Amino acid sequence: MEVKLLDLIPQYKKIKDEIHRAVDQVFSSQQFILGPSVARFEKSMENYYGVEHVVGTASGSDAILLSLMAMGVGPGDEVITTPYSFFSTVSSIVRVGATPVFADIDPRTFNIDPDKAASAFSERTKAVIVVHLFGQSAEMDQFTEIAAERGVFIVEDACQSIGALYHGKKCGMFGDTGCFSFFPSKNLGGPGDGGMVITDNSDIADRIRALRVHGEEEKYKHKYIGINSRLDAIQAAVLEVKLGYLEEWNRARRQNASRYEKAFSGLRGITTPFIEEYNESTFNQYVIRTSERDEMRAYLADKGIGTAIYYPVPLHCQECFCFLGWERGRLPESERAADETLALPIYPELGVRKQDYVIETITEFLDKNSL
Ligand SMILES: *Cc1c(COP(=O)(O)O)cnc(C)c1O
Repeated sequence: MEVKLLDLIPQYKKIKDEIHRAVDQVFSSQQFILGPSVARFEKSMENYYGVEHVVGTASGSDAILLSLMAMGVGPGDEVITTPYSFFSTVSSIVRVGATPVFADIDPRTFNIDPDKAASAFSERTKAVIVVHLFGQSAEMDQFTEIAAERGVFIVEDACQSIGALYHGKKCGMFGDTGCFSFFPSKNLGGPGDGGMVITDNSDIADRIRALRVHGEEEKYKHKYIGINSRLDAIQAAVLEVKLGYLEEWNRARRQNASRYEKAFSGLRGITTPFIEEYNESTFNQYVIRTSERDEMRAYLADKGIGTAIYYPVPLHCQECFCFLGWERGRLPESERAADETLALPIYPELGVRKQDYVIETITEFLDKNSL
């Protein structure tokens, strides 16, 4: 049997007609940049989140970058964040000329440890980028408290956590901006790159709206030095259709997660995801830990099961960030996670047969290696 880490084809087959109709409409209108398709999707998202402003962007990475630009983060400023995330969480900080300051993760949730973040603050701290990794919210209460006390911005990188809840409230609504990605492998994935910023702050929203069109507030009058970063009309049309299924898909992922949890609990040699009882995860990834990670991965690959490592190299150890001067050894939990984590197939349409095969194969591996 073959089980891919992520198979988007069954989902596409189910909603193919709706998607094609939506795309056809955009072609008929020949309005590919912004226009009604993007406006409609932004409105739908404003309703879904109950926020004042949604601004579509060309990617999740740009949503973070534009947030920092709109907040005026730049040279001389420090931004506290996690070393255990996707690359662009940190590259956006460097891109605006600011300095990332890393705080290590909580080894149970893989999210930034709020106590360690608290001790990373300095006079120069201008913002914190909190990442909700794998679908679970970080400890927002502690961050919103410190941020209010210190007068710093919070950017939420919720790219993996669309629809996730923290104490019953959606991720992305706690900070000054919430950033999302519509990369095809995200829980709400478009047919290409895309992203959005959500915010209740009108000043920030206005700025991001201008910044995404080269800093124009009026045609050919450039108030800021912006960039070209818009959500495409075709992306927006497809995402509008898929948004109607998001809650159902997130539920299916949670169901798959609980089947894994039941099957793996009590097995030695494997640690399943820890989700706080007040959190509802979207399980963009189902990430286990095992000391024999590379062996397990090879064994599964041999049996036709796809897995992935998120992330094999913590960001402070990336070659391009060497100049920041963070050496290996300084953020031990992130480094250990990079050596031990493995993502298993969790997509909504996985199905019982394939999932059982993954479970059996892992159990077999653990038995053989008597972990
Ligand atoms: C996917 C992702 C991003 C970037 O999104 P793109 O749309 O691919 O640019 C940023 N941060 C995290 C945590 C992500 O998972």
